Amino acid sequence: MLLKLDKLSKEYTIEKKKSFSALSNVNLNFEKGEFVSILGPSGCGKSTLLNIIAGLDQPTTGDLIIEGKSTKKYKKRNWDLYRKNNIGFVFQSFNLIEHLSALENVEIVMNLIGLPKKQRIERAKDLLKQVGLETHMDHKPGELSGGQKQRVAIARALANDPDIILADEPTGALDKKTGIQIMQLIKEVAQDKLIIMVTHNRELAYEYSTRVVAILDGKILKDENINESEKNSLKSELKKKDGKMSFGDAMKLSLRNIKQKMGRIVVTTIAGSIGIAGILLVIGLSNGATDYIDVQTNSFASANIIQTSMRFKDVALQKTDYPKDIKVYDSIKKNPEVLKVRENLGVKDIASYEVNNETLKDITFNSLAGEKYLLNIEHALKGRAPKDDKNELLVNKDMAKKIIEKYGLNPDKDDYTKAIGKKIKVVIQEKSTDPITAALVLGKKYTQDFEVVGVVDEIALSSSSVYYSYDAVDAWLKKDGYFAGKENRVVNAEVVIKDVHNNEKVLNYINAKENGGIGGEKMTEAKGFYATSQIVMVKSLMTTLINLAQAVMIVFISVALVVSAILIGIVIFSSVLERKKEIGILKAVGARNKDIARIFRAESALIGLFAGVTGVVAAFIIQPIANQIINNVLNINADNIVNIPLTGIPFTDIQIPFVTVISLIFISILVAVLAGHFPSRRATKIQVVDALRDE
Ligand code: ADP
Ligand code: MG
Repeated sequence: MLLKLDKLSKEYTIEKKKSFSALSNVNLNFEKGEFVSILGPSGCGKSTLLNIIAGLDQPTTGDLIIEGKSTKKYKKRNWDLYRKNNIGFVFQSFNLIEHLSALENVEIVMNLIGLPKKQRIERAKDLLKQVGLETHMDHKPGELSGGQKQRVAIARALANDPDIILADEPTGALDKKTGIQIMQLIKEVAQDKLIIMVTHNRELAYEYSTRVVAILDGKILKDENINESEKNSLKSELKKKDGKMSFGDAMKLSLRNIKQKMGRIVVTTIAGSIGIAGILLVIGLSNGATDYIDVQTNSFASANIIQTSMRFKDVALQKTDYPKDIKVYDSIKKNPEVLKVRENLGVKDIASYEVNNETLKDITFNSLAGEKYLLNIEHALKGRAPKDDKNELLVNKDMAKKIIEKYGLNPDKDDYTKAIGKKIKVVIQEKSTDPITAALVLGKKYTQDFEVVGVVDEIALSSSSVYYSYDAVDAWLKKDGYFAGKENRVVNAEVVIKDVHNNEKVLNYINAKENGGIGGEKMTEAKGFYATSQIVMVKSLMTTLINLAQAVMIVFISVALVVSAILIGIVIFSSVLERKKEIGILKAVGARNKDIARIFRAESALIGLFAGVTGVVAAFIIQPIANQIINNVLNINADNIVNIPLTGIPFTDIQIPFVTVISLIFISILVAVLAGHFPSRRATKIQVVDALRDE
């Protein structure tokens, strides 16, 4: 026995406690090869019976026994499998998917059993030929007559080669002549199957079926065999194959659906792309601005110099704790970026200058740390810079004026070159405000004649009156025994960086604990090297500000993303409502909830992809325009103040090309899929029987 309906009853709850009995105590047996007509007036329970046999609805009491097995314990999954493999359904109202062609309507069912594409198409073509539609395979349902639509539906019902064909008034919507053709067709193509057909046409029922079951008010009235000779008693096992709709197929289905609703999709895509483009441009702006600041600050004269000093714990309290032998700059010298390490041996700010035994007042001293530094002041230099192996000085205009006056000369207006060639005496002072340097010079006084070789007009970021060469002062003090017993004691050092762009890197290198730096320790409690650079500080402050501004802007722009997510959610939701019938059809032929959800997830993913790509394209189109505007408005001369980075995104360091762009497209897809999640879930909740009744 293929199917057995055992004391089957169905009650519908109408209002709260009222119920209506659509079927009561139905007992029926069905065998393979039978063509059974269910006959009865409208509302007697025919469709209810058919839906229960199809597994679309479950009985209130009683059992549907399939091949001797009770279905009382069937789960959703068992019913899906049963429908997919064993049931072919033909509806009165055809229930074809409007946006698919005849061929695709047949093919889609085979998607669910996981047949390869080529085989699906071949089989769908064969089936359509069988039902006499070879010339209409590419027609959409709207371009087919009622009879042709029903032929497509029959081909679809046969697609998975089911064992049972259920037809609910298949000729109900057709004229008499076409109805007869359809009856003949069903009979012809489903000879070896069990056919259960609902009809209220007595004539057709008796003419074509092998058995007629009459129903009235939910009860069996009559069950008679006719055309006994035609009955094929075939025995075969029910199929139990499993398969699922692939994401690619779901994607294709969504693409077709999207094509149907272009306008809506375009609006959603644009809405979604605004956020993506905005984020890209903000990232681009902060990237470009950071670069701009980098270039600007690096062009300062002292950008390649890092001031470094040694920190000692409790140094202010106990001068005598000053270590005797510290090779503090060994690690610095190992850094390949370091051009020169100049030791500032405590002479800075502790010397005074004398001309003719008179001390010059209001003098600040600074050292010149290498040729690169000098290059930057070339434009303001009269005479030349001090040589490393000579006791020579470079002075500013004020100092030059003082020297000229001390020599009893009159300074010419704006021309202070008279100071060049004059000799002055440099005196190392014994007292100093800095305890470390005081310790160095305690008890001795050193003097040396220096010759003025240059006058400088201005020096960026420096306001010293006198400049000297480290090497010269160093050599002089060494020669005079100033450092006797104090070798290797470096208190301050100026580190010159080869490539100015690396100043921050080298600064961090010097400060790193493993290189002798103080690491993250508090300055007052630390022991070790401590490097500072005004340029790096300015730069990092600016960068912090830019990053902060970027974060704030991205938060605002994210609102646009949220809005577009809501829009996508609404679009998917209305798509679910519109495609209710399609969902019903797919479920009726055995699609699982997963398959249904996948269709809408694919649709959201596609919208997200469109939005992401559109946003990226828009951002790159806007980029040069924005640059032009910013350059004009701010009156600056930077090529790329908006510069979308293609490698590395602010929150990652991974150097994959296009990582920023790819990440944002990915984010767009993710947002869309999340937005589409709940509507997709809603789609799976749609009841087949409800969906297909909606006509
Ligand atoms: P038929 O197909 O023979 O015309 P149906 O099986 O569709 O009849 O319906 C049988 C009876 O059950 C009808 O009176 C119908 O109104 C009722 N009915 C069908 N489906 C529902 C439902 N979901 N809720 C309440 N009543 C229903
Ligand atoms: Mg009905």
